[in-house]
Amino acid sequence: MAIALVTGGNSGIGKATAMLFAERGYQVAIAARRKQPLEAVKQAILSAGGLAMAVTADVSSLIEVNQMVDAVTTAWGPIDILIHAAGIAHEGTILDTNEALWDETININLKGTYLVNQAVLKHMVDRGQGSIVNVASDAGLTGGRNLAAYCASKGGVVLLTKAMALDHARQGVRINALCPGPVDTPMTEEMPEAEMAHWKTMLPIQRFASALEVAEAAYFLAHAEYATGSCLSIDGGNTAGGSI
Ligand code: NAD
Repeated sequence: MAIALVTGGNSGIGKATAMLFAERGYQVAIAARRKQPLEAVKQAILSAGGLAMAVTADVSSLIEVNQMVDAVTTAWGPIDILIHAAGIAHEGTILDTNEALWDETININLKGTYLVNQAVLKHMVDRGQGSIVNVASDAGLTGGRNLAAYCASKGGVVLLTKAMALDHARQGVRINALCPGPVDTPMTEEMPEAEMAHWKTMLPIQRFASALEVAEAAYFLAHAEYATGSCLSIDGGNTAGGSI
């Protein structure tokens, strides 16, 4: 059975992706900071007849990331697919963003991508195979208002993904970025209703994506054998031009 590691696997896009990979026959390791929701997702996968393990880790910590990857490879063997979905968003212009918020956003979203990719990639390069999907954002392609640190972090994720893809294509590892637009997950549900309604009317498709729609795109990208260094937009047309 092939093995997938899904970070951020206890919520939103990561949870939907973990459930989808399990349904399609993968052994799925899910990782995030909070143990209780992780265990709940693990139980849901097990109850549906799948195979799952839960590992608590903060993706911005080198030690915890290495422990996470060791825990999976020791228990199950080498990771075939990484879906790196862990991330946070803080609203604010650069003037609203104090140093602590800036550091937290960059440490989790960008440094976390570096740490998790590095830890998994070492094993993939040794084996000469593997596929990584980093969940970036449309806000990392075009920028977006009132999300300065988030846009900076996700723009970094997109270009880190491209750089790694170039470095490791000849070693048999594919690395791609997924760029969702607004998705119905806990990350967006705290958005004021009026703001959400406004966004929806501005989007060409006029609604947010479901987490499952994004999970389907992550599954596709992870298996798209000729894709590396690409950014797949799944954003209701948001970055096609001129919507928001
Ligand atoms: P979510 O809040 O439901 O899930 C975020 C996940 O990341 C949670 O599992 C959380 O535990 C985990 N996480 C956060 N910080 C962590 C850390 N330091 N270490 C380990 N795990 C950590 O949000 P979501 O919408 O599912 O977001 C998943 C990814 O998709 C994020 O990278 C987000 O930036 C990206 N994204 C979301 C949207 C959206 O509209 N929801 C749009 C574009 C991109």
